[in-house]
Amino acid sequence: MASIVISKKQYLECLHLYQGSFNPVKEFMNQEEINSVAKKMILPNKKIFPLPIFFDVSKKNIKNFESKDTVSLIFNKKEVGFLKPKDIFICNKKEVAKKVYGFAENNHLGVKKFYDTGEFFVSGKVKIFKKKEIDFLNLDHTPNKIKKIIKQNKWKTTIGFQTRNIPHLGHEFIHRRMLDKYDGLIINPLVGERKKNDFTTRAIVKSYKTLINKFYPEKRILFFLLTTNMRFAGPREAIFHAIVRKNFGCTHFLIGRDHAGVDNFYGDYDAHKLAKKIDKKININIVKFKGPFFCKKCKMVTNEDNCSHFRDKKSVIEISGTKIRKSLKNKNFDNCRFLRKEVLNSIKKLKLFI
Ligand SMILES: [Zn+2]
Repeated sequence: MASIVISKKQYLECLHLYQGSFNPVKEFMNQEEINSVAKKMILPNKKIFPLPIFFDVSKKNIKNFESKDTVSLIFNKKEVGFLKPKDIFICNKKEVAKKVYGFAENNHLGVKKFYDTGEFFVSGKVKIFKKKEIDFLNLDHTPNKIKKIIKQNKWKTTIGFQTRNIPHLGHEFIHRRMLDKYDGLIINPLVGERKKNDFTTRAIVKSYKTLINKFYPEKRILFFLLTTNMRFAGPREAIFHAIVRKNFGCTHFLIGRDHAGVDNFYGDYDAHKLAKKIDKKININIVKFKGPFFCKKCKMVTNEDNCSHFRDKKSVIEISGTKIRKSLKNKNFDNCRFLRKEVLNSIKKLKLFI
């Protein structure tokens, strides 16, 4: 049988496609599907989907796919599954990037990653064998498993929370508002391919375990990792994140400030605007959340819905993840006032950044 060596990024894409995380997409997209998704965020079968899901192959390796029924997938020197190729095609990457990312220049990290993929794309069905290739395997679950747990918990409403950060008091404010409103909260860090200077998976897991064990109503929280890759496609990726969480059984999904953005390419609430346009069509309720910030007058972490001073710049202190990262990087721990001491202490000695 023909075989091909795949990257970790590709392995994760195959895995999630196979286990149903990307429903209604069930196979790697063909050219028509990619173009339709790029142009209109709609699959040819009229279902909404915001991002292309593709399998890329280099010029050198494409001969392994020509007139083959099945191609074996090799990752970490092991056969991890196989792909049944349908079409082999070339994608107009510039056109697709312009539509999907809103930008076509490779100073945008998401666009650059897309341009760095192989020259050829292959559509078709994939199968992945039992996975053993993932770190923190005990925190990685299939959509079916999570749906089953939600059912056992008898949660009628479950809200999904996406993150790539360690939790600060701003996140905590959001979590607690969500616990007021919904039966269950899924805290679901995305730990597939990310970017340099993102938090390590270990730091995210340790900090969240500390917060959940010591402070949260554990029975109302489900914490697991989502091993899919970041695409840095801003508003469209926010919708993608919502669809993935719907597949894991969430009834609601939270979109905050600059969701899935990179540098300053997208406006803080662009994803809210896109969600407003299409959230009726994707069968999951999108909860749009602004802020939070620390208000000097109220002397607490709050947001626009809870405090009247949000227009007064002198009263508002932004809780900046970027600033927290910088302080941690410089081991300037006294500067991390928006991190709980217990959370900070739990990760101080770890390697914190990718
Ligand atoms: Zn206030």
